[in-house]
Amino acid sequence: MPFFKVGDLVKLIVDKNKCLSCGGCVSVCPKQALELKKYPEWDKDKCISCEVCVKFCPVGALKLKRD
Ligand code: SF4
Ligand code: SF4
Repeated sequence: MPFFKVGDLVKLIVDKNKCLSCGGCVSVCPKQALELKKYPEWDKDKCISCEVCVKFCPVGALKLKRD
């Protein structure tokens, strides 16, 4: 068992000025770590930091911040 989760080391930032609320990132996430409310909401416990959502977003509204 790992001592930490990926989500403890990264943070998914949603740029609400860019996001179109299209839900695409929610659909492509392989771990169901995103849920579309008004904007996508990120579940850090499920995220594996694959950046599929970041690459998918048509307007570049997602960023995975690594500390
Ligand atoms: S894919 Fe991009 S524009 Fe679409 S909901 Fe996700 S963050 Fe917003
Ligand atoms: S980085 Fe990967 S696992 Fe994390 S929210 Fe995006 S698509 Fe899902």
